[in-house]
Amino acid sequence: MKENSKIIIEKRVTLDERLRSTAPYTLLFKEILKAAIDFDASDIHLEPKKEKTLIRLRVDKMLFTYKEIEKKHTQGFINEAKRLSNIPISKRGKALNGEASYPELGIKVRWATIGTKFEDMIVYRISKLGISLQLDKLNFSKETSDALKRAINFKNGIILISGGTGSGKTTTLHSLLNEIDLDSLKVISFEDPIEIENDKLVQVPINEKLSFSDGLKQAKRLDPDVLFFGEIRDSEAAKEAYSGGQSGHLVLSTIHANSPIGSILKFKNLLNGQNISNSEIKEVFKFVAAQRLLRKLCPSCSIPLEESKEEFLIQEAEKRKVKNARVLNASGCEHCKNLGSIGKLSIIDYLDLEKIQSFEFSSEKSLHEYKADFFSAAQSKIEDGLVCFKEVIEIE
Ligand SMILES: [Zn+2]
Repeated sequence: MKENSKIIIEKRVTLDERLRSTAPYTLLFKEILKAAIDFDASDIHLEPKKEKTLIRLRVDKMLFTYKEIEKKHTQGFINEAKRLSNIPISKRGKALNGEASYPELGIKVRWATIGTKFEDMIVYRISKLGISLQLDKLNFSKETSDALKRAINFKNGIILISGGTGSGKTTTLHSLLNEIDLDSLKVISFEDPIEIENDKLVQVPINEKLSFSDGLKQAKRLDPDVLFFGEIRDSEAAKEAYSGGQSGHLVLSTIHANSPIGSILKFKNLLNGQNISNSEIKEVFKFVAAQRLLRKLCPSCSIPLEESKEEFLIQEAEKRKVKNARVLNASGCEHCKNLGSIGKLSIIDYLDLEKIQSFEFSSEKSLHEYKADFFSAAQSKIEDGLVCFKEVIEIE
């Protein structure tokens, strides 16, 4: 009995450490994770077939084959993939689910396996780790980054970003939170669902146990410095955001609108009936923005605009005095796996405190008449050949 009660202290090896090995299958697995990040893929599929194993990535809801692995490597590679993502190798053929984190790559994966006719198939759903997100990595212009950094340092008020699903607005807000000292401030988020995990925040999921409105009502009593509301969808949320921003808290949130001014007006409409004047509304906002994601052109195959023979676009570029514009090559190349683009970047049209204060509300104009100026936000990225001129013109 005594002999068996020895305590073995094992040094825990992290997955990041395991990934540092230069063994061929480890290198391949790491390359796939990195490609998924570069391509902004939502999922990785390792699919054993009769003659080979397909490595497929899901980008913009569509799968494409990133790589094919010869049959003789299938078992070795699948086993290594399991070892590198904490999937028990001894349970081959079973239906299993779990998670693995790679902090050095800034991602976390939720994996699911099932035994197929050949080997186990593994599917990884990728999510970003909040703590590794950095504002400076989001490709915003220096002016935009500086404006965002000024905004997050206010002690109270509201920061609001609008944009559709997949516009990157949640990533921007999480990156912004990493700009403040999270060790000495309390940040509470209410999200449905929690898309990005960050252990330095208190993240409250909205679900059947807790409604958005009950969560928000409780928010100010939890002694927060910063509140993060996933989205302002209704009057109740707008009311809580407004009172939070007015009572010494900084409130970050998103709203469904098409432009920065549109966001303020939408917010104002939601507050209708609260008897709050235009100047009171303006007083509480520190930063409002509209965000879009654009495809990042493949540097190997994008086409100079003049060669595209798209007369309308060529004239448009002349009219707007844009130099060196390029467009996406729809057939792509080997480098971009025929997608024409690799990953995404965000553009943002914003109003900072000064511009918000100088804005005059006009009751003549409707919400839809205020348009975001995505062209100006994207111009330097067009001229650097990073984004497709056509795509920018189309989102206007
Ligand atoms: Zn290409």
